[in-house]
Amino acid sequence: MSENRITQLFGIKYPLIQAGMIWCSGYKLAAAVSNAGGLGIIGSGSMYPDVLDEHLQKCKKATDKPFAVNLPMIYPDIDKHVELVLKHKVPVVFTSAGNPKTWTSKLKDAGIKVVHVTASVKFALKAQEAGVDAVVAEGFEAGGHNGIDETTTMTLIPAVRQAITIPLIAAGGIATGRGMLAAMALGADGVQIGSRFVASLESSAHENFKKTVINTPDGGTQLTLKELTPVRLIKNDFFNKVQGAYQNKASVEELKNLLGRGRAKKGMFEGDLTEGELEIGQIASVIKEILPAAEIVREIISEYHQALKELTGKQYQFE
Ligand code: NDP
Ligand code: NDP
Repeated sequence: MSENRITQLFGIKYPLIQAGMIWCSGYKLAAAVSNAGGLGIIGSGSMYPDVLDEHLQKCKKATDKPFAVNLPMIYPDIDKHVELVLKHKVPVVFTSAGNPKTWTSKLKDAGIKVVHVTASVKFALKAQEAGVDAVVAEGFEAGGHNGIDETTTMTLIPAVRQAITIPLIAAGGIATGRGMLAAMALGADGVQIGSRFVASLESSAHENFKKTVINTPDGGTQLTLKELTPVRLIKNDFFNKVQGAYQNKASVEELKNLLGRGRAKKGMFEGDLTEGELEIGQIASVIKEILPAAEIVREIISEYHQALKELTGKQYQFE
């Protein structure tokens, strides 16, 4: 694969980014993906500042390649996390869940490449205006926190491509080389992949959760809790309780009480499959094996090239 705007921007081999995912992407996963030629991301949303500090120290020891940190702006101690990425001279930051104007200049002034995650044309334009280096456009298929409009990746990528000029990274529903090629055909310069890397050896997700991910059937997830923060979950007992609450016309306050605190940790990090929140994308249904992250990168890139070769064959040319 030769260079493109994303490989040049980050100084990486493949335009393949591993998503920052709370409780699943610590330094072990991020370093493994970066060492394999992609861009690994530490998901800082679930880390207290001292934990992020530890992960940054360990990540720098585990890889000499570029890596990134995801900073969700709804995180309560965001100022401390920003200070940590500055202190550790993290080369790339992906901001999400907030206004891209808030941190972009400060991070860019420190020489950090900034990417903002969006789920609509409106916010992609806002991110471009804020001066970010690239935008992630994440479709409805994605796991975890998600946009409210339910725009699928198939629709979102060409729409954002038309609207912005800076590099575009597609996310949501991509777990394979064929998916990566499809996203590039729609106009993306690179892809961000989450779910596939949850089911990796290096992911910090609990073994129970990883096994559940590779057994998730087609239709096994749903976007819910739109009144709080929309989130795509596996349909487990906790999800069914939420559905029951909706049937009983629960108020926002009642939904908040039902969710409580720390359910994502309980499900994804501690492996409580009944009471925990299990956040994964629709594409989990095609993931069948827990593999080392480097092998996942290799498989995706190899399938990408294979599919590209097939699609340039005669049977696809209609003259
Ligand atoms: P681990 O639990 O894997 O490691 C804790 C300690 O044990 C480290 O000092 C580590 O050493 C050592 N260790 C780990 N595996 C082995 C082994 N096989 N043999 C010998 N020693 C071992 O934690 P992490 O290093 O992965 O993470 C650090 C902290 O961050 C932990 O408290 C963890 O719970 C937390 N964490 C939080 C996440 C979040 O999203 N909030 C995600 C992932 C972790 P070494 O320095 O060599 O790794
Ligand atoms: P909750 O409010 O339910 O719980 C907070 C969780 O975050 C606890 O498990 C807590 O760990 C951990 N945590 C880490 N650092 C802090 C801190 N400084 N203050 C308070 N809690 C902290 O939130 P969620 O579990 O849904 O989300 C965790 C964080 O990640 C939140 O800041 C959220 O905004 C952010 N986030 C969540 C996403 C999602 O998809 N759920 C996506 C992106 C960001 P402990 O139990 O050890 O105290």
